[in-house]
Amino acid sequence: MLHFVRNDGHCEEGRRSNLSFTRSLILLIAEKATDLSVKYDLIVIGSGASGMMSAIISARAGKKVLLLEKLPQIASKLKATGGGRCNLTNTLSNEEFMRQFGRDGRFMQDALGAFDSTALVSFFAQIGVETHAPDGFRIFPTSHSALTIILALENEMNKLNIDLKCAQKVEQILQNNNQITGVKTQTDSFFAPNVIVATGGLGYPTLGAEGDGYTLASELGHKITELHPAMMPLKVKEEWVKNCRADTIAKVELRVDLPKHKKLRALGDLIFTNNGLRGPVILDFAREITPLLEQYGEVPLLLNLTKGMNEEQIAMHIKNEIAKNPHAKIIEHITTLLPHAISHELCLLSNINPHAKNKEIEGANRAKLIQLLAWTPLTVTGHDGFKMAMITRGGIHLKEINPKTMQSKIINGLYFCGEVMNLDGPCGGYNLQWSFSSGALAGMLQK
Ligand SMILES: Cc1cc2nc3c(=O)[nH]c(=O)nc-3n(C[C@H](O)[C@H](O)[C@H](O)COP(=O)(O)OP(=O)(O)OC[C@H]3O[C@@H](n4cnc5c(N)ncnc54)[C@H](O)[C@@H]3O)c2cc1C
Repeated sequence: MLHFVRNDGHCEEGRRSNLSFTRSLILLIAEKATDLSVKYDLIVIGSGASGMMSAIISARAGKKVLLLEKLPQIASKLKATGGGRCNLTNTLSNEEFMRQFGRDGRFMQDALGAFDSTALVSFFAQIGVETHAPDGFRIFPTSHSALTIILALENEMNKLNIDLKCAQKVEQILQNNNQITGVKTQTDSFFAPNVIVATGGLGYPTLGAEGDGYTLASELGHKITELHPAMMPLKVKEEWVKNCRADTIAKVELRVDLPKHKKLRALGDLIFTNNGLRGPVILDFAREITPLLEQYGEVPLLLNLTKGMNEEQIAMHIKNEIAKNPHAKIIEHITTLLPHAISHELCLLSNINPHAKNKEIEGANRAKLIQLLAWTPLTVTGHDGFKMAMITRGGIHLKEINPKTMQSKIINGLYFCGEVMNLDGPCGGYNLQWSFSSGALAGMLQK
């Protein structure tokens, strides 16, 4: 179907007379020629944290930048970060920060050297976003709204005359003799000697991450590692958890209850869901659980929900509570340790009527309750995969990217930044900082 340009500048589809067809075609070609005649130094694919930062840093250095986004609006994932509050970085030193990414963490050294958390905080202050660390560790905008971050970045991109085109899905990166020449979208081609791939991973595909960057990079000869969903809620077999939905417990200790994996432990805040568990400790621990799920089918866990108290301490605590209030029901004593719904469920699991008084409870059942309060068993059976994964584990092979520049070692003028590369960190502002740092370094371009 042909698109005709109307006098008022809008497009319409259909048939016209030969004369008006020719006139329309001339207008159409003229419009395209104007658009494509812009000579770009850099095309950035993807308007996430990494892509916007690379575009800004490059434009500040005087480059003419085109930013292409396939969704109708920019920064969809950034908007959802930190539950909409955007935990953009944290207060760790660069050394400690890199350690948290495991074996490949050192790859970030130059990117952090160029643009670390201190630089990120000043960058945002400079574009009008104040930040703070309410818990002394995680850094948020003081507005506690990701929108503040997005509006400030958008404003800065406007000031720098960065051309932004939404609803433009890049389908191919163009190269000639191992030198980048531009990109092809579904409808157009754009030309530049540098392209930054900032397309994110595979997690939360509704927010734009559908793995396009892996296809684009592999078409140019880059290797992609195995890809796994990471940082996602886990489903458990035990149905009683649904009665505790939304209960949040701080400082939960988790351990895997499999003979060969007893050393796998974690500590942090946990939230019960309709069919399982989420919260920071679960999101981080999910990366340890997924390979075990593949191996064993299900993974038994033991959870200490009582801030590290052991059976002896719990028994003493309950004894003291009973002494203070001898006529109270057992549920009233347990709720001094845990939320009501969980206390209720643990009583039922111990064959205890939650409304029974201490004297009415059989010794074996009381012992069972104390045991469950010290270590509550739950069995992980699965997860929702990439649909609910905050991070992708795996990505473009780091060996083929120069860590000093983020440039491809295979094609000149091709750069990568953000989650599309094979690096992922835990919860706590690590992944956004890495996206901003790698974006800033990539945006410094080599020519
Ligand atoms: C719900 C949620 C909460 C999170 N909270 C936090 C947090 O608080 N702190 C933290 O540090 N990390 C958090 N993360 C992780 C963090 O958001 C990501 O690691 C980070 O946003 C990745 O940025 P990116 O620029 O690499 O990719 P993305 O933000 O995914 O951006 C990639 C962009 O590229 C576009 N795109 C993809 N393919 C194409 C194509 N072919 N053509 C054009 N455009 C394309 C996409 O539409 C998208 O807009 C969270 C993740 C999720 C899902």
